[in-house]
Parts: sequence; C-alpha cells; structure tokens
Amino acid sequence: MAEGNPLYDTYSRAPMRFERGEGVWLITEDGERYLDFAAGVAVNSLGHAHPHLVETLKAQAEKLWHVSNLYQSPGQEKLSGRLTEATFADKVFFTNSGAEALECAIKTARRYHYSRGHPEKFHIITFEGAFHGRTIATIAAGGQQKYIDGFGPKAAGFDQVPFEDMDALKAAITDATAAILLEPVQGEGGLRSFSTEFLKAVRTLCDEHGLLLILDEVQSGVGRTGSLFAHQKVGITPDIMAVAKGIGGGFPMGACLATAEAASGMVAGTHGSTYGGNPLAMAVGNAVLDIVLADGFLDHVRDVALVFRQGLASLKDRFPDVIEEIRGEGLMIGIKAKVPAGDLLQSIRDQKLLGVMAGDNVVRLLPPLVTTAEEAREGLARLEKAAETLHATNLR
Ligand SMILES: *Cc1c(COP(=O)(O)O)cnc(C)c1O
Repeated sequence: MAEGNPLYDTYSRAPMRFERGEGVWLITEDGERYLDFAAGVAVNSLGHAHPHLVETLKAQAEKLWHVSNLYQSPGQEKLSGRLTEATFADKVFFTNSGAEALECAIKTARRYHYSRGHPEKFHIITFEGAFHGRTIATIAAGGQQKYIDGFGPKAAGFDQVPFEDMDALKAAITDATAAILLEPVQGEGGLRSFSTEFLKAVRTLCDEHGLLLILDEVQSGVGRTGSLFAHQKVGITPDIMAVAKGIGGGFPMGACLATAEAASGMVAGTHGSTYGGNPLAMAVGNAVLDIVLADGFLDHVRDVALVFRQGLASLKDRFPDVIEEIRGEGLMIGIKAKVPAGDLLQSIRDQKLLGVMAGDNVVRLLPPLVTTAEEAREGLARLEKAAETLHATNLR
C-alpha cells in the first residue's frame, strides 16, 4: 500500500497542474494561462490541440488503434515513403520513443558490420555532452556518469571523446569501431552546435575508415532548426538517423532512418516492436508532416526564429549580468545564464512563460513551430521582465 505519492520519485516536478492547451498556451486547473515555450521538450511541434491533429486522431480512433506488426501497415508505408522522399534515407523502422530510435540505430550499425563478416566492429564513438536516452545502451552512449551510476556494468562498446575534438576523435578510431554518433545540436547538453566544418570532417573521416555516421536528430529534427533536419542545412548526409519528439506532435512515436546499405543487416527477425508504428501513431505522424512539409512552413519557422534571435541579442546586451550567451539554431534556443539557470527558469515561470533546463547552465526555449511573431514578442517581453527582476536582485 502506498504512503504519500505513489509515483516513482524519478522526476522533480514543478508545482503546476495543466488541464488543457490551446496553440502555444497551457492552461492550469485553476485557469491560469502559461506561454508554453517548453512544448513538452520539443515535442508539441504544432502546439496544443492543433485542429488537424485532433481531427486526424479522432477519425483514426474510430477506425483502428492497433494490430501489431504481424500484418502490412498502410500508415507505415505512407509515412516511411514521405520520410525517405524528404531525406537521405531508403529505409525506416518505427518506434515509440527517441531512446528506442537510438537503440535501433545502434543495432543497425553493429549488424551492418556483423553481416559483412566483422562482428568485432561494434564500438560507437560519441561526444561529451551527448544525450541519447535512458535505456541501458543509450545511457552508455550518452556517457553521463550521473545517468550510468548504480545500474550495473556500463554497456560495452561506447567510447567518448571531448566535444569537437578532431585529434581525440581520430585517436579513438580502432579496428573495433563501427560508427560515430552525434547530435548536430546538443539538446540536453546545453544547445551546443557542431560547426559545419567539423561535421563535414566527421563525414569524411567515416568514409575513409568505413564507419557509419549516425545522427541523433530526436530533438533537432522535424523543422526545429528551420530546415526539416538540422544536417540538411550543413550539407552532409548520415547513414543512419534517429528521430522522435516533434515527429509525433505529442503522440509517442519515433523512427530510425537509414540508407539501404546501412540497413542491409537488419533482415527479418533481427528487430521488432509490438507498438512501433501503430495506426494511431502513423495517422498523427502523417498529419504532422502534412503541416511541416507544406509550402512556406519552414520559412515561417526561420522568420520567427529571427524575431527571437534579434530580441534575445538585445536582451543579452541590456542584461549582461543575467544572460551570458544566446545559443542554438532556429527554434532550438539556448540562453546561457550568468545567474544560476534554475533562477532564470523560475523567474520566467513567475512571468508565466515556460522553458526547459539544459546542461552547462542553460535555459532552453523550444517554442512550438507554429508560434507567431506576435507570440514570440510576447515571450520576449516576459523574458525581459524576468531579466529585469534578476538584474534588480543582483544590484541588491
Ligand atoms: C529526448 C532525446 C532522446 C530520448 O528520447 P526519449 O523519447 O525520451 O526516449 C534522445 N536523444 C535526444 C537528442 C533527445 O533530445
């Protein structure tokens, strides 16, 4: 029998109780309205209760929820066709979450080398500051000690090097290396972007050594940075890519995308998921793409991102004792704080603006991609009030 709160104590939850959402707004049980620039950690790409998503989910709910992967799936065929059409990929595996998309990516890379007679090539090189999920394999990939401690031996085959350190990366490559895995823009790690130059050099290095390049675009993908996927702006292509968060617009789903060659080891029976790609998820995923792939949508994301960028630059100039640096790409925005980031997050919450903490003393703003310029300016005005309050506290 439970004493007190019967939930696991794994989350330190803020004392806010939301009942419904409308676009960029979240409304509490007692009717208070918050501007939601956390967007469920980059998940609510189209905001809350988007009419096209609501309509699609309702219609699908009346037809079919789940059949498993024992049968052919029209929804998966349609969504995979659209994803491969829009990207480097030839093959798609659907999952229920980001960590599962990464698990599939890791298995795909290892199996590729195995099927070519190289079972010893199973090591994957990752970068400090990475976050790839919370499964036993993905905590090892992320390499953050606080997530690894206490859960038994760290899964073998993950080697980590410092962020953007080319010499260390080259030195880490051995005959046992299968792949290099990175987030083009590190999310949880504090909105650090790999430079175009570095990403191109990594691609070349992979080609020279016969390694697969795996991109984790779980957070940076599906329009978040102003292009459909962050790597498309850089002009490189991966061999494998993990996607989740924004692709479901709030419905739990993810996907692992790969070239036909990289996916060649994943033959019948090698992987599976009971729920992955179920009809509800596929209906919503297709509906998200209806909007994100529509003409002009990504132009809108870039335009609104510019409003944020300019507004934030001016706030940084005016409050250098509160804001140290503005980071990120598109609507994946990081505010590196001069004060403790927790204080900045609390003080924007006091202004009824929601953001998310990240590593390296950063507060993330991940507004829905449908945020208008006017809503962006409303958010900036609230941030300004928060910065004024913190500045006044600093003077005291
Ligand atoms: C959120 C996230 C994950 C994990 O996704 P889950 O759906 O929580 O399993 C993996 N990689 C990145 C970059 C993320 O932001």
